[in-house]
Amino acid sequence: MVSRVIPVDPFDLVIFGGTGDLARRKILPGLYRRFLAGQMTDDSVIIGAARSELDDEGYREMVAKAVIEFTPKDKLDRDGLTRFLAHVRYISVDGKVSGGWEKLKEVVRQGVVKAFYFSVAPSLFGELAEKLHRHGIADAESRIVVEKPFGRDLASARALNRVLADHFAEEQIYRIDHYLGKETVQNLMAVRFANILFEPLWKAEYIDHVQITVAETVGVDGRGAYYDKSGAMRDMVQNHLMQLLCLIAMEPPYHFDPNAVRDEKLKVIRALDAVQPDDIVRGQYLAGNGQGSYVEHSEDPNSRTESYIALKCHVSNWRWKGTPFYLRTGKRLRARTSEIAVVFKEPPHTLFDDATGWRENVLVIRLQPNEGMELSVMIKEPGPGGMRLKQVPLDMAFATALGAEAADVPDAYERLIMDVIRGNQTLFMRGDEVEAAWAWADPIIQGWEARGDKPQGYDPGSSGPEDALMLMHRDGRRWRDIRE
Ligand code: NAP
Repeated sequence: MVSRVIPVDPFDLVIFGGTGDLARRKILPGLYRRFLAGQMTDDSVIIGAARSELDDEGYREMVAKAVIEFTPKDKLDRDGLTRFLAHVRYISVDGKVSGGWEKLKEVVRQGVVKAFYFSVAPSLFGELAEKLHRHGIADAESRIVVEKPFGRDLASARALNRVLADHFAEEQIYRIDHYLGKETVQNLMAVRFANILFEPLWKAEYIDHVQITVAETVGVDGRGAYYDKSGAMRDMVQNHLMQLLCLIAMEPPYHFDPNAVRDEKLKVIRALDAVQPDDIVRGQYLAGNGQGSYVEHSEDPNSRTESYIALKCHVSNWRWKGTPFYLRTGKRLRARTSEIAVVFKEPPHTLFDDATGWRENVLVIRLQPNEGMELSVMIKEPGPGGMRLKQVPLDMAFATALGAEAADVPDAYERLIMDVIRGNQTLFMRGDEVEAAWAWADPIIQGWEARGDKPQGYDPGSSGPEDALMLMHRDGRRWRDIRE
């Protein structure tokens, strides 16, 4: 069975930054795949927009190269690509100057869904919003898609929200967090709210702790100067890990409706306690394996920006009182993996005289690689000779369980862009959510800046700094191995 594709309404999608890295690697190849899948109608148009002087043909050549480079060979359909390119146009426009916008106005049609993707530096978001409005290119039904980062602290996020709100209603603004577009993330909601099995146990009474890990093997080489202004807290925790935490911790919304879901996520963020300095470990990768260190890559020998962070936080509400959430993310670690592990408590009474000492059930939601879920359960070790226990996984790799259907799953960007056209904001962050996340993150960052904390060095290819292991050990817990 192949997944069901419902075509979206005819649209004009303008990609500001249509010649940039994100457009070439993700947005355009993603649109091509949706086109091949039959989700784009014949009268839909994609308009690249940037300052470069290109005509339609020149841009189509660039798009063709990008699609070929970033599409797996077995998914490439050359005839399909030619048909796709017929839907692609280009307009040269500068977000910083007033001229040139009339051309864009002539090209964007009335009577179709109009979406404007801001795949440009955040400093341009406000200017683009203002010009789209002033030149009458966008109307009350149009949508804008805003890339990350959405601010670098509460004040800048608020300022950005205000600028966008001057020209667009909240219902028109789609703030992308591509983690929310991942299949498993949505599955998390299905598992929690479409099954009776887990929800009754989904509380502090039965859950010992939750671990959220996003580990990368890459360093910041090539974009060190940019990354150095951000760091793991701003780049990953305030947005991606926070969103995952929300989906684990939120109450069931009354309906699978954008505002109902986002209301519940917001309540979680607001219920987060301040994080104590002792519950934060920051790290910087050292040189090794033939590669430079973080400070070499950041080009600042005195940099105190973290390429790794681990922290413990608490959601202060009835459901979660006493269950810590441990978050960690870092670069140049042992493996590239993203997972959420919900670690249940041990049974209250031990029947078996067994020395295994590892009795928890763990529900692991793997985001990458090999998206899927795993539930570890205790069973009797096979064979004669007493009642020894063994922890085994009930493993459900979606690729195995769903076969061709899983192979056909759209990637996060594809899904999210189609959601924009459909007008479904469920998987996009609302302005108040982003502000609440910054309101939580700001004092943490200000705290280590005021204390002058230095990140601890860690070896490339390791699990992170020693102190991060201690963060768990001192609570009598341990991190799961970082492995693919
Ligand atoms: P990029 O490669 O530097 O591309 C920037 C784009 O903006 C280019 O198409 C550039 O084209 C255009 N541009 C620059 N100044 C402009 C102006 N004044 N008016 C109109 N267009 C202008 O950046 P990127 O990596 O694609 O990132 C784009 C956005 O996505 C950023 O907000 C970034 O933080 C976010 N993002 C990127 C990634 C990623 O993997 N790349 C991941 C997550 C989020 P011209 O020079 O021709 O104008």
